[in-house]
Amino acid sequence: MASPTRDITGFSRAMFSNWCWHEPFQLLIDAGEGLQLALGQKIWAPEVVALTHGHSDHVLGLPGFIASRKFAKGAQDKPFTVVFPEGNNGVLAVRELLARMWSATAFPVTWVPIRAGGEVRLGKTRVLQAFATSHGGSEPTMGYAVLEERRRLRREYSGLSELEIRELVRQGGRDALMEGYRQVRFAHSGDAMPVDPALVDGADILVHDATFLDAGDRKRDIHATTAEAIEVGRAAGVGCLVLHHLSIRYDRSAALPALRAQVAASAFTGECWLLDDARLINLR
Ligand SMILES: [Zn+2]
Repeated sequence: MASPTRDITGFSRAMFSNWCWHEPFQLLIDAGEGLQLALGQKIWAPEVVALTHGHSDHVLGLPGFIASRKFAKGAQDKPFTVVFPEGNNGVLAVRELLARMWSATAFPVTWVPIRAGGEVRLGKTRVLQAFATSHGGSEPTMGYAVLEERRRLRREYSGLSELEIRELVRQGGRDALMEGYRQVRFAHSGDAMPVDPALVDGADILVHDATFLDAGDRKRDIHATTAEAIEVGRAAGVGCLVLHHLSIRYDRSAALPALRAQVAASAFTGECWLLDDARLINLR
């Protein structure tokens, strides 16, 4: 069973710094400032960073992270892949800065532009899939899902007894009874209005934008409310929902009880946490 406190660390302060580290998948989502300081010796662990968009609080940690990986003592030559929304100017500016600052230094960094529906393989059994999100402006923005390729008994055989199944296997072989499917192990909305639940259906862990406690505080449709994020979790049947990006306008001593009450009053039954600064706070 996925556990956010075991699998995920990160930092989330809207407009300051946002990143999320999924340790079992060696995957970073976004690279806000302070990333390399927080990871410490784990700085050489990430194999891929998937950038959701090019806003400064999501990408300005990347130069420091890559430089520390290159110049500190450790696995300097370990390859690193940066997946980013194709044509995103904020990301391209960071890429250019890296190229200009260390033009004489070769970094083992591969830049992979991606569009909605695009996939990058993560090891043998998983793919990282990008989906379009709604975050205002004209720049492309993405969310990501890690899909694990699994096999299961075909639905039409699900009512059979063990004996009947063994007989079918004897006749036609095991493969004829099985079908492949993809389980969403982890998904991240980045900064976004509520994502389509179908894109993150059944996710073990979903990290979702939850900037506004009160929809009345939202001036432009570029961030989700906490209630919208919880509803995505419910509609998608998510096992564990991690809210992030809660606006700093809300005093935490009042916001946390209000948020816990929202979660309790909702029809969402999974685990629910808030990533706030570096803390993961249980909302149940
Ligand atoms: Zn943003």
